[in-house]
This record gives sequence, structure tokens and C-alpha cells, in this order.
Amino acid sequence: METYDIAVIGMGPGGGHVAETLAESGLAVLGVDHLLVGGECPYWGCIPSKMMVRAADLLAEAGRVPSLAGTTGEVIPDWSIVARRIREEATDTWDDTAAVERFTGKGGTFVRGTGRLTGPGRIEVDGVPYALTRGVVVNTGTSASVPPIEGIDTVEYWTNRDIVEAEELPASVIVLGGGAIGSELSQVMARFGVRVTIVEAADHLLGVEDPEAGEALKEVLEAEGVTVHLGVRARRVERDDDGVAVVIGPGRVVTAERLLVATGRRADPAAAGLASVGVPDDARFAPIDDHCRVTDGVWAIGDVTGKGAFTHVSMYQANIVIRDVLGEEGPPASYHALPRVTFTDPEVGAVGMTERQAREALPHVRVGSVQIPGTTRGWIHRGEGFIKVVEDAESGVLVGATAMGPSGGEVLGALAVAVHARIPVDTLRSMIYAYPTFHRGIEAALASLR
Ligand SMILES: Cc1cc2nc3c(=O)[nH]c(=O)nc-3n(C[C@H](O)[C@H](O)[C@H](O)COP(=O)(O)OP(=O)(O)OC[C@H]3O[C@@H](n4cnc5c(N)ncnc54)[C@H](O)[C@@H]3O)c2cc1C
Repeated sequence: METYDIAVIGMGPGGGHVAETLAESGLAVLGVDHLLVGGECPYWGCIPSKMMVRAADLLAEAGRVPSLAGTTGEVIPDWSIVARRIREEATDTWDDTAAVERFTGKGGTFVRGTGRLTGPGRIEVDGVPYALTRGVVVNTGTSASVPPIEGIDTVEYWTNRDIVEAEELPASVIVLGGGAIGSELSQVMARFGVRVTIVEAADHLLGVEDPEAGEALKEVLEAEGVTVHLGVRARRVERDDDGVAVVIGPGRVVTAERLLVATGRRADPAAAGLASVGVPDDARFAPIDDHCRVTDGVWAIGDVTGKGAFTHVSMYQANIVIRDVLGEEGPPASYHALPRVTFTDPEVGAVGMTERQAREALPHVRVGSVQIPGTTRGWIHRGEGFIKVVEDAESGVLVGATAMGPSGGEVLGALAVAVHARIPVDTLRSMIYAYPTFHRGIEAALASLR
């Protein structure tokens, strides 16, 4: 049986980083992936979707020229440019040769196949056993979760993978799910001329964030021609002459050429063989401690841990595992300042707790906010959105914040530092905020804390 120091099952952003770094440090590392080294983010997630967002934002920006700057020539959206960029610049036509060579160039061994733990220090890849002297890192990610709606299998629905690979957009689409992915993709498609209908079961978009953000985003999307149905569930999916019909209530049917399912992501810890080290078969996520250990010699990182389905979480956890394997000192994992950005226009950046979470967890909470149009830069820019800060009034530190607005994800940086480092609100109030920036709105939001 072949023996290595460490095996990494699933080479997503975090797994790839662990595998490369440990191989570089001289360990014998076996990297395993049944698809593409790099995972969802570069091939079907963050990077291609943000290429779409960049293109769609340019179209919207061009539309703002007449009211602010003059006359443009005719702007004709052309999806083939986006599709080509994704194919050629982002994904190398979904070819991971460069990523595999980067890993093997550092001394790692790569096996393409499906891996699973079979016990402490043991894995199988497509039935071939391997022994590991130091352990196994599980980074198997998530896949699109498709709800069991009656009839859904009778239509060719899209997930994020299909839209990322699409050479052409449909004339119309129903998007099931108004979370971050569904909202970003809806706005992109609408800006490329697609008639978009969102069907969302929750009563606001971006369900995990402060409701104000979802409500403001709904207005923005509707102003761009997107139809948004909130608080309704898709009850049945049928084929239709135009493509797809989705029944959303008695006598209520929406139709479109395509259906895009964006109803969340599903981890499958059982498929990774985690039951062989004591994880219950029905666990939704891989349970980890603050060193990302499932048990001695087994670590899990990334979406499969349920700590936040973001590339930055996967990379953060990867660094913790690298230190743990190499026996280096370092802080344990903490998720109290988890940043999240939805790359709609305006962007929605958020960190830490929402107001509701804070009120449920803490006895005394104060909240302050400012509307972006009411700030100098927001008014000049004709921006929309708000900055909201949530304070634990007993300790006098921010425990959460939302920055919705132009460059909201960048404004978030300052708020993330404040929440992460538990900087006293008094200190934040004594700072000088550059004029006229979007982040200067933080000062106004802090001033309104009550
Ligand atoms: C449309 C979209 C947009 C997104 N945008 C952002 C964004 O803007 N910012 C952000 O931070 N995050 C974003 N994400 C989330 C981000 O892609 C993930 O959080 C990120 O990829 C980290 O995931 P991971 O490391 O857990 O593994 P993944 O990237 O999911 O990779 C897991 C890897 O494991 C492999 N694998 C799975 N099971 C096995 C097995 N048994 N054997 C071998 N190999 C296996 C898979 O083939 C895959 O390569 C987006 C996701 C989507 C879908």
C-alpha cells in the first residue's frame, strides 16, 4: 500500500493551499480531486461570476452616462465576450493542468479520483487504499442543492455551473432562490437583457443578512425590470411551450425559457467517509474544533464545515490546518468577524452578527445607521444603500455591521477590522474619516447609535 504523510481529499481553494504548502515544506502529500484542482471558486463560482458582474456593471454604468455626463453611442450587450473571458482567462476551458502542475512542481502527488476516509490514517481513492502517517484533510466542498419540487426532473434546469458555461443567455429565466448567488446572477442577466423572475420562499432577498439589505435590493432589482416574488414556494415545475412553468400558488404560474436553481448549497460529509471516524451519517456538515480537527489526524476545511461557504473561510481554515500539521503556534479559529459580500450593484457587505442575531444573543444592543444618499459621497455618486452598525452596548464594541452601497464590499473592510479587533466604539468615534468617501458614512452611523 502506498504511504504518504498527508492526504487532501478535495482540492478546493483551501485544500489546494494546504496541499501545496505542506508539499513545499517537505511532507509527502497526496492530493485527490475527482474534478478540477482549484474547486468551485475558479471554475464555476467566485471568479467567473465576478467576471459576469464586472461586465453587467459596465452596462449599467453606461446607462448612467446620459444623466451625469453626456451622450454615449449605442451600448449593445454581448454575452459572447463574457463567455469568452470566462473560457479563456478564468478557466482555461475548464482545464486544471496549470493547477495540477503547480502542486506536483512543489513535490506533491496528485490522483484524479473520488476519495473517502476509511478510518484513521486510511483513505481509498476509487477503491485503491492509501495509508497516511500524519492524517487527512477533507475539503470536499458543496454542490448546488436542488429542492425536491414536483416535476423538477422533467425540465433541464440550470445550476451555477450551467450559467457559467453558457455561450448564450436565454430570453427569459426563472431564478429559484434570492440569496447571494441568485441575486447576483439575476441582476447580471437582467442587465444583459434577460427577462428575470425571482421566486424566493423567505420574505426578503439575501435571507441571512439584515432584512433592510434584502428590501433595498428588491427595489433596485425591480427598478431594473426584475420581477421578484417573495414569501412563495415553487410547488410544481412543468414543461411549457416557452420552456418552463413554475406553479407558485393556487392559480399563480410563472413561465420562462429557462429555470436556474440557486436555492443554496449542500455538503455531503458522509460521502467523504467521515462516518469511519465517528461522524454521524446524517450530519449536515463536518463537525470541527477551533483547530479544524474532526478528530486526531483528521481535519476538515471549507464549505463542508458549515462555517461559511466562502473562499476566504476555506483559505482561513487552511492556514490553521497548515500550522496544526506543522506544529506551529497560532490563534485558534474564530468566526465572530466573518465577512460576507454579495456583489450586486449596490454591493452588500456584512460582517459578524445581524441586528436580529445580536438581539437574540446579547442583553443590550444599540444600532446606528445612515442612508448612503444622505452622505456627501453617496449624494454626489447618486448611490443607494446604507451603513448599519450593531453594538454590544455592555462592552461598547461593534459585533456586526452592514455596508450596502457602491463599493460596499470595500467599505466593509473598515467595519470588519472594528468587529474583528473589538475596537471600542469610543475609539472608532475619535478617528478622522476622509472626506468625501463612502466609508465616512461609518462615522455618521456610529453617531446615530441608540
Ligand atoms: C456562483 C457562485 C459564486 C460564488 N461567489 C463567491 C464569492 O464571490 N466569494 C466567496 O468567497 N465565495 C463565493 N462562492 C463560494 C466559493 O466558491 C466556495 O466557498 C469555495 O469554492 C470554497 O469551497 P471549498 O474550499 O469548500 O471547496 P470547493 O471549491 O467546493 O472544492 C471542493 C473540491 O472537492 C472535490 N471533491 C468533492 N468530493 C470529492 C471526493 N470525494 N473526492 C475527491 N474530490 C472531491 C470537488 O471536485 C472540488 O474540486 C461562490 C459560489 C458559487 C457557486
